[in-house]
Amino acid sequence: MARSLFLASFAPSLRHRFVISAMICGILGVHGAMVKAEGGKGEAAKAVPKATTAIKVDQVGYPVDGPKVALISFAAGGPVAGGSPAQAFELRQTSNDAVVWKGKASASVSDGDTGDQVQAADFSSFHKAGSYYVAVPGVGRSWNFTLGKNVFERAYYLAMRGFYGQRCGTAVDMGPEFPGYSHPACHLHGEFHATSGKSGPRENLGGWHDAGDYGRYMVNSGISTGTLLWAWEIYGKRLKSINLKIPESGNGTPDILNEARWNLEWMLKMQDSDGGVWHKQTSEHFDAFEQPQDDHLPNEVIGTGTAPFKSTCATADLASVGAIAARVYKPYDARFAALALEAARRAFAWTEKNPNVIFRNPRGISTGEYGDSNCSDERLWAAAELYRTTGEQAYSDYFLANYSPFLSTLDSPPAEGWSQVAPLGLWTYALSHGKTDKVAVDAIKQRTIAAAQGVVARTRTAGYINSMKTSDYVWGSNGVAAGYGMYLLIANQYAPNRDFVDTARDNLHYILGRNTFSLSWVTQLGENPFMHPHHRPSGSSHLPAPWPGLMSGGPNRGRNDAVLAKLPRDTPPAKVYADELASYASNEICINWQAAFVFLLAGELR
Ligand SMILES: [Zn+2]
Repeated sequence: MARSLFLASFAPSLRHRFVISAMICGILGVHGAMVKAEGGKGEAAKAVPKATTAIKVDQVGYPVDGPKVALISFAAGGPVAGGSPAQAFELRQTSNDAVVWKGKASASVSDGDTGDQVQAADFSSFHKAGSYYVAVPGVGRSWNFTLGKNVFERAYYLAMRGFYGQRCGTAVDMGPEFPGYSHPACHLHGEFHATSGKSGPRENLGGWHDAGDYGRYMVNSGISTGTLLWAWEIYGKRLKSINLKIPESGNGTPDILNEARWNLEWMLKMQDSDGGVWHKQTSEHFDAFEQPQDDHLPNEVIGTGTAPFKSTCATADLASVGAIAARVYKPYDARFAALALEAARRAFAWTEKNPNVIFRNPRGISTGEYGDSNCSDERLWAAAELYRTTGEQAYSDYFLANYSPFLSTLDSPPAEGWSQVAPLGLWTYALSHGKTDKVAVDAIKQRTIAAAQGVVARTRTAGYINSMKTSDYVWGSNGVAAGYGMYLLIANQYAPNRDFVDTARDNLHYILGRNTFSLSWVTQLGENPFMHPHHRPSGSSHLPAPWPGLMSGGPNRGRNDAVLAKLPRDTPPAKVYADELASYASNEICINWQAAFVFLLAGELR
């Protein structure tokens, strides 16, 4: 039920959206408080080398030919006995502890958002593939990591399989690699809620569980599925042959498209015969912390409660994603591509008749709202994707008549999120191969490139070498970090620039362990991953570790749950985090953050 909130640097009206969302997410707290204590669950399964959290590395690794920096952090007084900063560091081979490289630690810098003093240990000029750790005399050693050519391929594999693990309406089994990580088919009985304008059964099997809860939400499905399909469009050559070991593997369609289709098919089922799309399919309230097959609350198709019952943002999101699907599935399944395009056209037409039907949770419904008071950005995205797919004048006319007020969203990276999709509309127009308006394309590219350059400059001076501003440590801040990476990689499409790619990777390093906690924020990835996600299948099981490949929401200075509220008042913003199941506001998983993380990983594949 987490919410991606890439809004901190936005206009006040968008900040207001943040406040609304945070309040909605707060509803989950009732359920978080009911959860049993987890009592060290999973500790037994964790490899525990003698590492110190004072040394931070990307626990997956570093491309052997790229920049390679570990960080050494300390509070006032210094990391070494006697209070002085570290001087020398060594790179050692994991297999035999042999020193393969020696370097000098940088002068320390003060990192404002953590309060840490941070030194860099740069071994970029070491170029031999293998498994290593960093050792600092008087401080200790780091977790092991890999230097290699294609070092993030397994991370991509796990993160994409994270989506498979969220599948609803079917039995899921992560296979022999993760024995016991399975469940029988869930949520098999759906029906229309009275707010949908219809009644009776409507099963709509399929889709992904959104987050730590079992709801399925059109708006968040839109940006998540769209982001995965974009990853395919931009990095398809690298992704094409990666087998995700899902039921469809080997069917002739690349697996990232097989997995995205699982959710897309559910999204298509949420469209009414008039072209409009219902907002979500969930129970009336969150279920207990239980396995998916044990949730027997009726799974309701929920609408706005009054005519026309469907909502504009949800409908426009289906139009956007359906239009992308029409492009990407065409070589593999022309019939499905045509069906998706037809759905997209009908959806867009519905939004023309119903340009701003806002969804708010009707009385008696307390699952996630994904409320958004303005659907004009969703409509812009839909028109742009439909134009890119069809080349038809009407979609171009709509885009050109409406895009300019949204250009300013590009000035505040990472810019896009579930409630602000204008950047996706702008970017896709500028990526279109059809006839486009030069003034519009130049403005989109120039503003994106300029903002990306600003992000690079800021990142270089940050103690933790990430792109985060203080205001970015919001609910889902790891999604913000991934969003910066995605922004930089899009900029790199317009103006290839090594700095954009390296800085995108710096945000990946942050997520994978180069952070104040020396924690990998992806389950079962790296030697020191977080262990207690707010995630029902993990939290209600007796498995030794959480379900694999899932990214935590991350530090949240908004302290929107009881666990965070109890942290000392002077806790720095980037440290307002708890690896606890009950901390839904800092430790939930969510498909939209996960999709941005996948995009970032896809950009790293070779
Ligand atoms: Zn389910």
